[in-house]
Amino acid sequence: MILYDLRCTAGHRFEAGLPSMFADNPDCPCGAGTSRVPAAVRQLGAASAGRSREEMPTTWRGISGGHPDVVRGWHREMTRREKLEEKHPELAGDRRPVLAHEGVFEGRPLRSGDALVPAVAKATFGTSETTRPAAGGAR
Ligand SMILES: [Zn+2]
Repeated sequence: MILYDLRCTAGHRFEAGLPSMFADNPDCPCGAGTSRVPAAVRQLGAASAGRSREEMPTTWRGISGGHPDVVRGWHREMTRREKLEEKHPELAGDRRPVLAHEGVFEGRPLRSGDALVPAVAKATFGTSETTRPAAGGAR
């Protein structure tokens, strides 16, 4: 039994339980034909992406000195997160290795695959524009 919201051609709305999604819609009590209405979005129990990789503890103290329950809990949570990121890569963020994060790269780390010259120009001057010699300039 699946509950559907139905609306008749006269505008009456009601809910009816149908044996399957392929079952014919019942007529409205007023006698008019009906069509299915998309169910309202329910906010109860909204989906959560869970904790991110950045929240994962990186210290011995963070996992309570290796307490088995804490380690198991984090392992379970990060396994779930990994599956979620496989399904929705946009949640994974930029996972490329960081090559430089000090000096000019402090605010915006240089990652593997970044073009070096524009990255340095942007970190240094705040723009990725590189000055090119004017055409026909002196040699
Ligand atoms: Zn009706």
